[in-house]
Amino acid sequence: MTLREILGHRRLTTLLARAIERESLPPTLLLAGPSGVGKWAVAKAVAQAVNCIERVAPAGDLAIDACGKCRACDRIARNVHVDVIAVEPDDRASIKIDVIRDVLSRTGFRPFEGRRRVVMIRDADCLETSAQNSLLKSLEEPPPGTTFILTSAVPGALLPTVRSRCMRLRFGRLTSTEVAAALTRDHDYTDEAARDAAPLADGSLGQALALIDNDLSMFRELAIGMLQQAAGRTDAQSRVQAAGALHTGSSRKERTRESVAIVLRLMASMLRDLEAINAGADRSVLANPLLTHDLEALARAYSGDRARTVFASVDRALTALERNAGTKVVTEWLAVQL
Ligand SMILES: [Zn+2]
Repeated sequence: MTLREILGHRRLTTLLARAIERESLPPTLLLAGPSGVGKWAVAKAVAQAVNCIERVAPAGDLAIDACGKCRACDRIARNVHVDVIAVEPDDRASIKIDVIRDVLSRTGFRPFEGRRRVVMIRDADCLETSAQNSLLKSLEEPPPGTTFILTSAVPGALLPTVRSRCMRLRFGRLTSTEVAAALTRDHDYTDEAARDAAPLADGSLGQALALIDNDLSMFRELAIGMLQQAAGRTDAQSRVQAAGALHTGSSRKERTRESVAIVLRLMASMLRDLEAINAGADRSVLANPLLTHDLEALARAYSGDRARTVFASVDRALTALERNAGTKVVTEWLAVQL
């Protein structure tokens, strides 16, 4: 994928393209930001833009870009270009010192077929401490013609000595339109499936993909079930019981924090729909059109300020989950609040 094909992050890709054009790309880059937003894709696009044989000047903000078709671009895309080295964590989410030693031994020579050698390290926080230490000297004084690009969703987990030697570029979340566009363009999902999953993915294509392959309809049922239960204003004990379905799946396995967060985000979007219905909005604006019937039946129970109050509780529960609170504690707290 070339820089111009990257969805979102235009400010950063513009900056990178300009640096590549002026041959002033920093020798060590750390692409930091949430997982699943395209950091690795940008790293590869940079490697292509640097080494492409027939670079282009695309219309728009980008000063320069790879053609995406030449021999170099093709080899980089297939991870077989001799001068573009991709290091990824193993099955145990670890990058061992041997791997780094091997990579470094290959950077002792000038680039073989490309303009610059690019060493890309994915999820660099998976580097063992010894591997990070072995990198220090190269990051401090990169071998001639070599650029290091590290990506990480948790840059704070890197050694400060590694962090301080890299120029950091901060990646933000994607918009839900960008996530939907990536799902249809690059992953062959239908517009409908993409529109369905994108708003729940928290700005991450990775999360959208996990979600779309999971049972979204089951999460949706759980969410509307919680709202129906709360509308019934049952006693606290039966609510806590109902919350059980939210934090524990059918196989008695506790759901992941991410699954619970998806259900909560669904609840939040349904509460916005309820408010829209109560305000007499056109049904075409609903974020959950499949549930129009159920939502209409619930609207009266969420009239006045109630939708907003419940929304605020759901929002607090989501924040607590993001701060690593346990799913059981959070869902039971929420069930009582509703
Ligand atoms: Zn090319």
